[in-house]
Amino acid sequence: MKVLLVFTALLAAVFSRTTFEGDQVVRITPKDEAQIIRIQEMIEFEHLQLDVWLELTTQPGHPIDIHVPFGSLQAVKAFLESNGIQYSIMIKDLQRLLDEEAIQTKRSRIMGQPRNTDSFNYAAYHKLDEIYSWMDMLVNENPTLASKIEIGRSYEKRPLYVLKFSTGGSGRPAIWLDMGIHSREWVTQASGIWMAKKIATDYGRDASLTSILNKMDIFIEIVTNPDGYSYTHTNNRMWRKTRSINAGSSCVGVDPNRNWDAGFGGAGASGNPCTETYRGPFAHSESEVKAIVDFVKSHGNFKEFISIHSYSQMLLYPYGYIRTPVPNQDELHTLSTKAVSALSSLYGTKYRYGSIIDTIYQASGGTIDWTYNQGIKYSFSFELRDTGRYGFILPANQIIPTAAETWLAVMTLMEHARDHPY
Ligand SMILES: [Zn+2]
Repeated sequence: MKVLLVFTALLAAVFSRTTFEGDQVVRITPKDEAQIIRIQEMIEFEHLQLDVWLELTTQPGHPIDIHVPFGSLQAVKAFLESNGIQYSIMIKDLQRLLDEEAIQTKRSRIMGQPRNTDSFNYAAYHKLDEIYSWMDMLVNENPTLASKIEIGRSYEKRPLYVLKFSTGGSGRPAIWLDMGIHSREWVTQASGIWMAKKIATDYGRDASLTSILNKMDIFIEIVTNPDGYSYTHTNNRMWRKTRSINAGSSCVGVDPNRNWDAGFGGAGASGNPCTETYRGPFAHSESEVKAIVDFVKSHGNFKEFISIHSYSQMLLYPYGYIRTPVPNQDELHTLSTKAVSALSSLYGTKYRYGSIIDTIYQASGGTIDWTYNQGIKYSFSFELRDTGRYGFILPANQIIPTAAETWLAVMTLMEHARDHPY
């Protein structure tokens, strides 16, 4: 009887999981404005169920990556060909790539529970509970440097944890880092874990990091969207949004990077709950966003804010919702040049950089536009590896290289904040 129950539960788990057999990720390169408009029309055909991985820009020649379900492949290819639009296949069978990822993840789990943060496997993707227990280990091992703060609860009532690194004092100027606000961007949460460990290891050993922490506190929210992250492990690896129920719609979730009170509701976000860029019913409707808003406001002394996404290898600064340059655009641009060159010095990884609106597209309600308008003049966003070969399914053996190179850029940004108090 027990065996039968276990088997039934297993079957239920298998069948509730979304699979992607035969799905492809198609890279489309529009050559002019007219083609961009045609592609936009295609994306808006709801029955095709297209999932945009790398968004449409307003600039011809820039690629767009779209995850196309198996059932829509023929229609999409016919549409593109009849309009003379160029495309290529980036991922031939999405499920096959996900199966490989699952095997890797399972293999790393065989190693068992780590006894401390040194024996934790940083080159693997971990489930939410593993990350949360790792946080406790890190805090226990570094009681005078690290602490854990619960800044709120997610829609599904999971705790929203922030790690605080501080060498003392109160109300010190502070730096914020967050990862995984889009849950499927797994390399970001994994890099966050590595970075937090790096801070704990380097304090007192690395002169530059030590001098930062002697002046400023560092806060890191590694899993900013825990409901979504949990869902990517249990049901749908490609889940991006929050998991909130939308009144009057069967579609779930809000894009937490369109939900901030900065040009909320403007161009570059959707009012349709069934899209991946749904802005939500009102600004800060998502508890995951509201928790950060309240925390940042009540802290009152954040000087730098870095929000980490993937993929496409870019370092971005505000604005995204308006074309007006920020007052210190020259400073942010020069600093980005330095940060990107530090990043590239490790493995030669190439990054593009600039303001969101000039570098990618107009997007409203974004995190760093809001933080900038709060007076945090060093507000940045990263898009980590890669440029589309694997997209969101970046192999686990690239986690440490990605984190390590990004860390060099993050250090450059933090050093600048340390040396330019305002
Ligand atoms: Zn993202």
